[in-house]
Amino acid sequence: MSIKENIAEIKKELPGHVTLVAVSKTKPDNAILEAYEGGQRVFGENKVQEMVQKWVELPKDIEWHMIGHLQRNKVKYMAEFVSLVHGVDSFRLLKEIDKQAAKHNRVIDCLLQIHIAEEDTKFGLDENELQEIAISEEFKNLKNVRVVGLMGMATFTDDLAQIRKEFKQLKSIFEGLRNLLPNVSVLSMGMSGDYQIAIEEGSTMVRIGSSIFGARNYH
Ligand SMILES: *Cc1c(COP(=O)(O)O)cnc(C)c1O
Repeated sequence: MSIKENIAEIKKELPGHVTLVAVSKTKPDNAILEAYEGGQRVFGENKVQEMVQKWVELPKDIEWHMIGHLQRNKVKYMAEFVSLVHGVDSFRLLKEIDKQAAKHNRVIDCLLQIHIAEEDTKFGLDENELQEIAISEEFKNLKNVRVVGLMGMATFTDDLAQIRKEFKQLKSIFEGLRNLLPNVSVLSMGMSGDYQIAIEEGSTMVRIGSSIFGARNYH
């Protein structure tokens, strides 16, 4: 099936309140343009340099989401245009995004990443660290970032019960955060292999790469 057909198939399955982020990392401009011609406007990348290059080359009404692990010294390169940063896993990083957004007179939407997987290799805050940030005065004073929700990645496993358990845990942390920050509305969870489960467990945003664009050529 073509990229356009893949997107149409996935969109048919998604409830209206779930946003599709087409994860285009490693994929060339022409693949992204095919998705664009199929109506897709939201794309996710995990490397700043690659996202900047694509932003320069591709139509300006694309919304670029940074979904990968982000180093503080790279924030400045994307602050002008990034529309949502999914992987904010420290207060220091959030403050850097605030600082760089201010230079462009922007308010950048961010998701705090929560560690829900069993693997230590995945980044993210735990529930206590999240609480600490959300209740701090310093956080409330940040003018150029807006925390709009949470993001998480489940363990890479065939054990669907384990994946479901981790998504349930993230949803519960999300509901807890909503009591502190009523504006929080985005729950980014679910990828090609697990997005149906994620939606059943309350996802409002899925990040899908290989089911749209085919397998990536690295690893
Ligand atoms: C690559 C990536 C995805 C998409 O993965 P697929 O399995 O190809 O759908 C989603 N989220 C993050 C954070 C990623 O790095």
